[in-house]
Order: sequence, then structure tokens, then C-alpha cells
Amino acid sequence: MPRKKIAKEEEKRVETKLKTKKTKASNLYEDDIEELMILQPVKGMRDILPGEQPYWQKVRKVLEESANNYGFARIDTPTVEFENLFERSIGEESDLIKKETYSFKTKGKEKVILRPEITTSIMRAYIQHGMSVLPKPVKLFSVGKVYRYDQVEEGRYREFRQGNFEIIGENDPVLDAQIIQMTYIILKNLGIKNIQFQVNSVGNPEAQKSYIKVLKNYFNSKKGRLGCSYKDVIEKNPLKIFDSKDEKCIEICSQAPKIIDHLDKESRDHFKSLLEYLDELELPYVINPTLVRGLDYYNRTVFEIYSTDEEGKRHALGGGGRYDYLAENLDGEFTPAIGLGLGMDRLVLEMKRLKAKEYQMPRPRVFLAQLGDLAKKKSLKIFAEIEKAGILVAESFGRGALKSQLIQATKLGVDVTLIIGQKEAIDGTIILKDMLTGTQETIIKEKIVIELKKHLKNSMKVTKSKK
Ligand code: AMP
Repeated sequence: MPRKKIAKEEEKRVETKLKTKKTKASNLYEDDIEELMILQPVKGMRDILPGEQPYWQKVRKVLEESANNYGFARIDTPTVEFENLFERSIGEESDLIKKETYSFKTKGKEKVILRPEITTSIMRAYIQHGMSVLPKPVKLFSVGKVYRYDQVEEGRYREFRQGNFEIIGENDPVLDAQIIQMTYIILKNLGIKNIQFQVNSVGNPEAQKSYIKVLKNYFNSKKGRLGCSYKDVIEKNPLKIFDSKDEKCIEICSQAPKIIDHLDKESRDHFKSLLEYLDELELPYVINPTLVRGLDYYNRTVFEIYSTDEEGKRHALGGGGRYDYLAENLDGEFTPAIGLGLGMDRLVLEMKRLKAKEYQMPRPRVFLAQLGDLAKKKSLKIFAEIEKAGILVAESFGRGALKSQLIQATKLGVDVTLIIGQKEAIDGTIILKDMLTGTQETIIKEKIVIELKKHLKNSMKVTKSKK
């Protein structure tokens, strides 16, 4: 049965079993855990199978190359952190903390969280390890899994991966422009098209406070049309109303006062300067005055990146912004900073949708075939010697018949097949077969790496001259 069908069948089997078993959903896992073996990942989490890996490899490679080219040093932080770290940084009233976190008590009674984003962890590490003494800006790069108890749909998971770039310690808008420019280059290098940046400034904390007051007054004046379900939101976090998908609400939001008209002078100048850089770079951007992003720590520049498909549907690929007050908020020194988070799962989806070129595995140039038990024993060591010499070599040790091994060598398109039979294993020799000409020669085992290198060099010349 095809693999996809098996997976679907298994999903169906589990679903029916769950339906029949599920009298009380809440105690299902506790009561039935012994009995019910669920052969699938937890909702919103998934396996990334070998077939998809070339896309992931490409994404990782492009992110790492950009990190190198733009001077970012790699940092890895734990997936599990203390819960109050994120409550402090993102804000206890944010949806992310209130509704979307995986948090729990450990056996040692520590209140921990599976990180819902990476910037906070990086800033925690920056403060903890005294990185403020390093020459500024400190540029840090990380890739890793993040966890959000989100509504699951295509491209929206509960375990997903982000690539994060942080520029810490400088205030200059040129860095805001640089991180946006780098994002553009990353997306282009992945073959992603129709890119649009949305940018806005949310001002400094003082400006934000006075804007929130104005916004509350506005939404309170529209309470009748908004409905009573918004009463609490208006009081606690009126910015959240901008995220609503409700049509009436969208219309009311479109008339709402804009944060850009309430900016402090410093933020206004910073934003103006950023826009000049973006114009100079000719990057595809629009100003979105309602873009505020959900986290408490953002100030001044915020941005998001989208691509648009043939049907006009937009796909959010990443976002970022300034978080100049985060370090201070985590009891560190005042440290201006800007960051970017790219959704790697979304990048892979986009690449697949656009049939972009994935990572090409290097082609092995040599195949090692063996016949008989003694030959198999010798082959392991010879394989390791060739591989150590930096020559990519394939094998099929599990197969006995020479014919099927040679078929595989042909399929792989190798230049050379090495054959060790019973006689060669006893004599300490190896047959070297040129796959292009079909000629064979016998080589002393100890000279195999030298001879192989010579042969591969020649066959490269032949291939080149044929072109
Ligand atoms: P955010 O940290 O919310 O700004 O997200 C940054 C990027 O991560 C988004 O633009 C998406 O590409 C990606 N992302 C956010 N949430 C999810 C999710 N639940 N599943 C997959 N990717 C996500």
C-alpha cells in the first residue's frame, strides 16, 4: 500500500478508536494510555520525512549563509525556559501567553514553558552571559523549534521552526533597513517570489501609552456597533481589535486613529529614515498603519513579510521589529535591538508551491560492490578509507547479488564501481570498473585511494571535454 494511504488509514483507525473510547475527553489520556497506542504525533506536530528534507536543507543552508555573510554568530538556547521570563517579555495580557503557550510544572515544581518564540531566550542569554561587553552591534542567529497552542490548519502548526536574526546594541535605522534587506535576499535565494514587506512604527513606550488612551476612547465610542464581546478587549488590549477578521470590526478599525499620527519625534525621525533606506534599496514595501504585532516588547519599527499566490492569497513568512526596552524589562541595561523571525515551515511550503529548487544531494562518484562474506567484511574498512579521503561513495551492503548492485551503481550514475569478490578479498585486491568505458583493472587494496583519485580526475576531464 502506498505510504500516504497507510498513514491515512492509521489516522482513520485512531480517530474511530478515539470516538468509540472517548466518553470523557479529559481523562482519556490518563485512563487509557496503557491501552490506546496512538501511532501519530500530537495534534499540530508532525514528522518531516526524508522526502521533504532537501527543502529543509536548502532553507537551513540559505539561512546559515546569510548569517555568515551578514556577520551573525550562531547561538542555541534551550527549548524549555522559565515561564515568567516570557510573561515578562511578551506580556501577561497577550494572546500568546494567555491562550497559546505550552506551560507546565516539572516534577521539581518549576513552572516552565516550551518557548513560544526565540528572541526572549536570546536576550536572556545575552544578559546572563554578559555579552554587553562585546563590540556592538552583537549579531546573533538561531534556528529552532517553537511551540504555540494555535488553531491548526495548513501552514499553522503547534510545533514549528523559526530562523531568528537579532542585531543587539545599536539604535541606527540603517540596521532596521539591513535586516529587511537581508530578509529579501534570503527569500530571493530560496526562489520565493511576489514578496511584500509591510512596515510601521509603533513608537516609544510613552507614545504607545498615549495612543492606547486615544484608541480606547475611539473604540468605546463605537462600542454599540462592536458588540459587548469587545468590552474587555477595549479595556485590556485595544490593539488586539486590529487583528479581528470580522467585517464590521475591520471597517471600524479602518477609521480608527493611527499610531503613526501619535509618534514621538524620535520615532518619527527613525521611521522616516528607515523608509528612505528602503526606497534607496528599492525594496517592495508598503506602510501598514494598523500593523502593531502582538507582543508587548516591540517599539518603533515593526515589519512583516508576505508572499502572494496566484489566487491572491497572502502567506505570512516572517516578521520582526525593534525591542529597545526588552533588555531593561528583563533587568538588564538599556540595550536597543532589532530582530527578525522567519517561519521555516512556511518557507518550505512556499518553495514547494512555487516548485523552487530544493537542495541537491551531492552525487556519489564511486559505488562499492561486494560478493561473499569475506568480501563484505573487507568492504566496511575500505568504504571508511575512501570516505575519509573525501570521496563520496555509495554501497549496498545488504544486497548479495552482484547484478543488482551493478544496477544500483548505474542508477546512481557513478563514475567508478569497485568490486570485491571472494578472490579479491583473499588476494588483497579490488577491481576498478570505469562505468563510462566499461574497462576494468585490478588494484592493490592499499593503493585504492590514490588510484581512485587519479581515475576520478581523468574521468572529470573526459566528461568536461564531452560537454
Ligand atoms: P511571529 O513570531 O508570530 O511574528 O511569527 C513569525 C513567523 O513564524 C510567521 O510569519 C510565520 O511564518 C511563522 N509562524 C507563526 N506562527 C506559526 C505557526 N503556528 N505555524 C507555522 N508557522 C508559524
